[in-house]
Amino acid sequence: MAYDTKFLINGELVDGTGDAVAVVNPATGEEICAIKEASADQVDAAVRASNEAFPAFAAMTPGERSALLLEVANRVEAQTESFAALESLDTGKPIDAARDEMGACVDLFRFMAGAVRSMNGIAAGEYMEGFTSMIRRDPVGVVASISPWNYPLMMAVWKLAPPLATGCTMVLKPSELTPMTTLKMCQMLADIYPKGVVNIVSGRGETTGNALINHDDIEFISLTGSIRTATKVLEAASKTIKNTHLELGGKAPVIIYDDADIANVIENLKMFSFYNAGQDCTQPCRYYVADRIYDNFVADMASSVSSIATGMPDAEGTEMGPIITPDQYKRVNSILDSVSADKRLEVVTGGKALSGIGGGKGFFIEPTLIANAEQGDQVVAEEIFGPVVTATRFADVDQAISWANDTRYGLSASVWTQNVGRAMQTVARLRYGITWVNTHLVGVSEMPHGGMKASGYGKDMSIYALEDYTVPRHVMIAH
Ligand code: NAD
Repeated sequence: MAYDTKFLINGELVDGTGDAVAVVNPATGEEICAIKEASADQVDAAVRASNEAFPAFAAMTPGERSALLLEVANRVEAQTESFAALESLDTGKPIDAARDEMGACVDLFRFMAGAVRSMNGIAAGEYMEGFTSMIRRDPVGVVASISPWNYPLMMAVWKLAPPLATGCTMVLKPSELTPMTTLKMCQMLADIYPKGVVNIVSGRGETTGNALINHDDIEFISLTGSIRTATKVLEAASKTIKNTHLELGGKAPVIIYDDADIANVIENLKMFSFYNAGQDCTQPCRYYVADRIYDNFVADMASSVSSIATGMPDAEGTEMGPIITPDQYKRVNSILDSVSADKRLEVVTGGKALSGIGGGKGFFIEPTLIANAEQGDQVVAEEIFGPVVTATRFADVDQAISWANDTRYGLSASVWTQNVGRAMQTVARLRYGITWVNTHLVGVSEMPHGGMKASGYGKDMSIYALEDYTVPRHVMIAH
């Protein structure tokens, strides 16, 4: 099978000239293809092209840029099936989930196409006698964007749509683990955009990524990824004072009060905690459960979790696929081994690797619920990024909220109760960029996605992403 493995640099589709990096199907462990990564010279050419294209693209009207975004949306939509099949192959996620993500990608392009035509701000006027002030919102400049592997095309679109709406030019690097759908976009972007406006190069973080974030002619770095990579971005940014936009990890608390609709809680958590095999920065994973309902909740949740159909991504009825890489698979398994060795922690369901699926070489892990967890446990403190959740009993509301906030992360949380007042009081005390009530993980293009604390700053989606990729400039005219 032939795949799109070329990069887009200055309007041309080109092969990488660096080392070959294997792209592996996590459901079978087999190599899909090997892609030569972009060399430092190719990164330099992409950055130069972005700089050359910037003045003309920034000068386009919002209406003109909006039309280009709509064209991209239509082209992706027309190829939903082939994009979804490729995403599912590359990540191991169930095909239906991959299809839903393609719909979200199309919707975000369309949202940005509309929103950029109606940005607003402070009214122009005479704030000092004899002077008129006005605000311009201009593009931040040449952007380097780095996307992760868990929702490859969707994360790439979160990075592409806002800067291309506001008039930035850019170089995007997808994760070397899952570059396939992003590279599939190269031809359509080459057809739609003036050369140099959008450049796409793939490669490993320490090579291609490193060359990109350290390039002197990049003005803004946008990353969705780990805290480890974020520190590299900040180091690079500090050398030439680049602007940064960081979307990092999470360890979402889930506060379940004793008046919650338990059947609804269980139905939702079964779906959202194990969506994408738990490899989601907003995964609901730290359950804090009111003492009165704890035992029943754990028993019913365990039975629900054990019913999750784990299997090949293209098999009928599969709800959960494999973990992304052998390394991550080993890491999650070793965490589960240490949990099994702990006499207090109770693995109520799951807890092991699943070896019998497909050819037996995929990276599958049982959906796992661990009860009797306490705040200091590694499984409660660390982002696992796998199908593993914990349940902790609470007797006191203040204690539950304090545990929920007791983490370096601040991306997302949820509260489950039928009492609106209680929900609102709890929401106000939680320190998270996103807080759901009686649901979790649901996102819409109109609303911002982003964190607080070590989960990063900067917003994806929504009008706030457009603001992040623009600079408010004061223009003052003396009369
Ligand atoms: P990662 O940081 O390992 O990789 C992310 C990207 O950074 C990849 O493209 C990688 O090649 C690149 N990279 C790695 N080292 C680099 C370097 N030195 N210089 C430049 N680029 C480099 O993260 P990952 O494993 O792909 O993704 C998982 C992480 O992303 C988790 O922590 C997860 O929570 C987070 N995430 C956050 C969000 C969000 O919206 N907040 C969404 C998805 C994933």
